[in-house]
Amino acid sequence: MTTKHYTCPACHEENRYKTFVTDRVELERAQGEAIRVTCKHCHESRTIHPNDVFAKPSLLPPVIVAIVVAIPLIILFRLGWIVFSVALIGAPFAVWAAQQQAATRFNGYRIRERQ
Ligand SMILES: [Zn+2]
Repeated sequence: MTTKHYTCPACHEENRYKTFVTDRVELERAQGEAIRVTCKHCHESRTIHPNDVFAKPSLLPPVIVAIVVAIPLIILFRLGWIVFSVALIGAPFAVWAAQQQAATRFNGYRIRERQ
């Protein structure tokens, strides 16, 4: 659930690249070695390599988890079950850590470029 980005070869602005793949191998299999993109800043149409796409951890899943656990957390806290509410506080942070791991894994593996 990480967000994918690339830097425009023409204007060097960062663009969002919408895909659900979890690694560059999957990206190459789905889109091929040359991915056609249109920059939303300079509107230039270019091709990029799957290695030019990089992942960033998404803030959305931890925020969703934080919202979902907020109500039971308050209820448990009011009931005096502090131990359980502390465990729930950790949930969004665990999701955030998983996001960062997924982004590191995506960015850490580069496809061998063919000559
Ligand atoms: Zn551009």
